[in-house]
Amino acid sequence: MPIDLRSDTVTQPSQGMRDAIASAPVGDDVYSDDPTVNSLEERVAAMFGKEAGIFCPTGSLANQLLIRTLVKPGEELLTEERAHIVRAELGAGAAFSGITTRTWASDRGLLNADTPLALAHENAGPYLVSTTAIAVENTHNFGGGTVQPLSEIERLSKAARERGISMHLDGARIWNAHIATGTSFNEFGKHFDTISVCLSKGLGAPAGSIALGSKAAIAEARIWRKRYGAGMRQIGLLAAAGHYALDHNMNRLVEDHKRAQKIAVALAAHSPSVIDANTVETNIVGLELSQSGISAADFAARCKEQGLWISALGKNYARLVTHLDFDDAQCDEAIAIMIKVLS
Ligand SMILES: *Cc1c(COP(=O)(O)O)cnc(C)c1O
Repeated sequence: MPIDLRSDTVTQPSQGMRDAIASAPVGDDVYSDDPTVNSLEERVAAMFGKEAGIFCPTGSLANQLLIRTLVKPGEELLTEERAHIVRAELGAGAAFSGITTRTWASDRGLLNADTPLALAHENAGPYLVSTTAIAVENTHNFGGGTVQPLSEIERLSKAARERGISMHLDGARIWNAHIATGTSFNEFGKHFDTISVCLSKGLGAPAGSIALGSKAAIAEARIWRKRYGAGMRQIGLLAAAGHYALDHNMNRLVEDHKRAQKIAVALAAHSPSVIDANTVETNIVGLELSQSGISAADFAARCKEQGLWISALGKNYARLVTHLDFDDAQCDEAIAIMIKVLS
């Protein structure tokens, strides 16, 4: 069996999760009749202190449904240049919602409130594009699992809202930020108008994201979800996996973080230019290979020959993500493989 660290989405549903799926009460969710979906939407909304939630098949759809409630056609969303919303959702904001984006650069995706605040231009009138929302990704995926400082989130949210600019959180891995910092979900929730969370990343559900916001925003998202063709029927089967994931797979994320740290420390000791272990805060290990003499694609290919799968995301950037199907013995093996390839 290969060790698969391409993503935390590659996990298998456990027997307990499969049992929960098999016994879930269900109904037709297009009629809002599915009790398991309804209770999951209410549960996650309450966790973040939001009025309402809607189950979505993917995080991309959750993000897209929410940002279209905040930003009108021709208006602007600001986000970091490697954010999932602008890098991995295939231009959906432009293609479906007619919105424009501008991005700011950062080190590791780390938020400094001053950068978007300097870029933002609210109520720009008939000559320039008006900024109506700012999106923050926490943790930051392509930044290497970076946790955003709560103080910067607070500062950005306060200043943006004073200027009439809405705040969106791409919280696909907000669970990891919570485990890494102890910050409550309610605290995160206070600073954002809309939030997307993924059940299918570290929490290990086979599918599902929840989009959160005000009652009005979620009612609008419900219309657009159906319009996009994602009105689904007895999806309490998936929602049951989400409940199970929240009950059983949250606190164990600390183990994913420890293993990611162990990998980072071992690789840094061998090849200091490849990784600074202090930057590994959660379950993602980003490797900067430009000084290692091997490209990311070659590194990934050579690891694969040895039974370790990782992602080559840039010419010199490779990514490993730890998850619930990755144990201590595999961690030691993965480290040995990568050190061999780097030597
Ligand atoms: C995975 C991810 C999403 C959603 O991805 P889907 O594959 O559409 O579920 C959104 N944002 C971030 C930061 C992610 O890592």
